[in-house]
Amino acid sequence: MGIDLTTIPALADVEPVRSTKTPLHLDYEYTAGAASSRFLRAVKEKKLMGQRCPKCGKVYLPPRGACPTDGVPTTDEVELPHTGTVTTFCVVNVPFHGQQMEIPYVSANVLVDGADLPLFGLIQEMPAHDVRMGLRVEAVWKDDDELETSLENIKWWRPTGEPDADPSTYEGQM
Ligand SMILES: [Zn+2]
Repeated sequence: MGIDLTTIPALADVEPVRSTKTPLHLDYEYTAGAASSRFLRAVKEKKLMGQRCPKCGKVYLPPRGACPTDGVPTTDEVELPHTGTVTTFCVVNVPFHGQQMEIPYVSANVLVDGADLPLFGLIQEMPAHDVRMGLRVEAVWKDDDELETSLENIKWWRPTGEPDADPSTYEGQM
């Protein structure tokens, strides 16, 4: 059963969409919400602020304001370091429209130390074929005068040179 659109006054003079041409372009405004806004303002100060669930103790980065497991507000703010571990990754070898990085390059999930949710990022300053699960990395930030309220302030992650993390430290985060 569909919705009878003729009953919605605001749509009375709107022509229904019957087909689309690709590629599509969609402009939209994003309202971050309280938890994400705090996170993004901190990122502009080169700080990684997560939130801890008071019930299960998990630290969410970026925080969403509530623990999806326990359904309670995550009110404890936790500042996290700029280091982490690659949990999973993908070597991008195929060129595509709008591409900004030179191929091959690596997209990865990085589990920041102390967080229980990995962040998505790029791995640079090492050969793509040397990236591996457990690789220890650190954030490389944009210059201070380029910082915005965006996670793109982290240009990429680069290897720290430490020994690889033990799989038991990130096996639940993939
Ligand atoms: Zn929880």
